[in-house]
Amino acid sequence: MPLGSVRPAGWLRRQLEIQASGLSGHLDETWADVGPNSGWLGGTGESWERGPYFLDGLLPLAYLLDDARLKAKAQKYIDWILTHQATDGMIGPASNDDWWPRIVALKALTQYQEFTADQRVIPLIDRYFRYQLAELPKRPLRDWGKFRWQDEALSVIWLYNRTGSAYLLDLARILHQQGYDWMAQFANFQFKQKITADYIKLNEGGGLKDLALSTHGVNNGQAIKTGAIWSLVSGSDTDRKATAHMIAELDRYHGLPNGMFSCDEHLSGRDPSQGSELCTVVEYMFSLERALAATGDPLLGDRLERLAFNALPGTLTDDMWAHQYNQEPNQVECSLHHKPWVSDGPESNLFGLEPNFGCCTANFHQGWPKFAASLFLLSGDPNSDQHDGLVAAAYAPCEVRANIRGTSVHIAEETAYPFRGAIKLTVNPSAPLAFPMHLRIPAWASGAAITINGKPEPQPQPGTFARVERTWKPGDRVEINFPMQPRASRWFNNSVAIERGPLVFSYGIGESWVKLRDRGMTADWQVFPTTAWNYAIKLDPQNPSADIKVTESEIGETPFARKTAPVRLDVKARKLPKWRAEDGAADAPPQSLVASEAPEEEITLIPYASAKLRITAFPQLKT
Ligand SMILES: [Zn+2]
Repeated sequence: MPLGSVRPAGWLRRQLEIQASGLSGHLDETWADVGPNSGWLGGTGESWERGPYFLDGLLPLAYLLDDARLKAKAQKYIDWILTHQATDGMIGPASNDDWWPRIVALKALTQYQEFTADQRVIPLIDRYFRYQLAELPKRPLRDWGKFRWQDEALSVIWLYNRTGSAYLLDLARILHQQGYDWMAQFANFQFKQKITADYIKLNEGGGLKDLALSTHGVNNGQAIKTGAIWSLVSGSDTDRKATAHMIAELDRYHGLPNGMFSCDEHLSGRDPSQGSELCTVVEYMFSLERALAATGDPLLGDRLERLAFNALPGTLTDDMWAHQYNQEPNQVECSLHHKPWVSDGPESNLFGLEPNFGCCTANFHQGWPKFAASLFLLSGDPNSDQHDGLVAAAYAPCEVRANIRGTSVHIAEETAYPFRGAIKLTVNPSAPLAFPMHLRIPAWASGAAITINGKPEPQPQPGTFARVERTWKPGDRVEINFPMQPRASRWFNNSVAIERGPLVFSYGIGESWVKLRDRGMTADWQVFPTTAWNYAIKLDPQNPSADIKVTESEIGETPFARKTAPVRLDVKARKLPKWRAEDGAADAPPQSLVASEAPEEEITLIPYASAKLRITAFPQLKT
């Protein structure tokens, strides 16, 4: 659907407002790299990826909130780009000719065109693509651009869908041909272990080698969309299925309970004390949003929610003024202590302005707004322009304004999901209209129920889209109820994580926040534990939810704040004295099952994102 069709409501709108009041709404005032001297505003400052990264998130944030102050900030960049195209068609600062930052700028320009219909955008992109098609044989993709070509393919297809110019398919093919072959990497996946600095020859000089770039976390996060996007050009079913296969391989060798694969900043195995970079979280989300739209695979929606409701808020402070470079599922300290990273520096899991490196500072802004914009999709036959219905791809409170075969349809989605399992959609077509609505039923949701105006629909299958087809009339009510019994999942060394709906739960370790230094309008923080964390939990293996007490409370003004965590789970546990930390990182959880003589206690788990110091993957007690 064109951007602007889905608007956040309820807690999701508050989350975006928090973002706008935090660093996203002020970054240009406090961080020179995207400030008035940015090369993307005609200055002599940073002229590479940071300006476009910031714009790519600021722009949808501004338009989804209809925030005039933020729109004006975004417009400065947009206007500079639109009024400074070179006569040959090149865009962006003249001080570099790297294709990569322009790939990001195109992501922002295409969004801007959808929000505003500004008539300058399509001719500018068209001239740029014609220039690039002529230029690429002489000056091919290299390093980052070579490994991230699929993100440009998205913009090429976007323009093709609007102009139908045949040369755009030639451009897509040359990007594919010069770009890294991600499908081959995952067809025969070789990177099954923690990647070491020696393995990728990180210290030999001469920049990052292909081996380093192909095991790089952000590159892999962006690559996840490759098969799905390329299948739109190739028509190949193997390509279409490649996205799910890539995710399965990354999970198998590098998967973590927060939904991420480890990447600190190269693939680093399944130990829950390894980190994942924030850029990878938001790029993985964007890949899932686009791959889901291209393939209709409902499981991509499950993963998108897992990242959006856990990994994304879990690595930002509640006020969104500070973030980490790396987050860990088992994160017992955020300090300058040495950490088990493959290549990142000692500040990587501090909360701050630009811990370790400033890419995430510029890039994290796209996470929440693009998620909000992707909650609903249009359905239809991929071989025709006719859209036949609507798809609820991911769930959160929102409002939808769509046009189906000339009739406008408004939908209000009211829900406290992911904290509750009840979702209410009120459908208001401007006149009665027959169309299908496809409702995603997550794979974990066995026993889900759907009613229309109070009448039950057939029991939907988990891991599918339930198709509800009828003549919709103003005021029709769809009610979806997802089962919210806690579940257990298995991780490294047979450790166990507790989940409920799309939320992952963690033991919230006591936190002492110590300011390391002021950073303009924000600050850098270390976080030290004030309580023990080395618990093994007791679960009935036949029925894990039997041993877990669930307490629900209202969603607070800050949805994921620890103080007002909307769901708490009480579980039985014992301390496990042999499980320790070294240099601020928890040892891998000992192989479960484990025995402990310590007294039994009741501990409280809260949503992963509410606990900035946390244990998520627990050893399990022998019973
Ligand atoms: Zn980053």
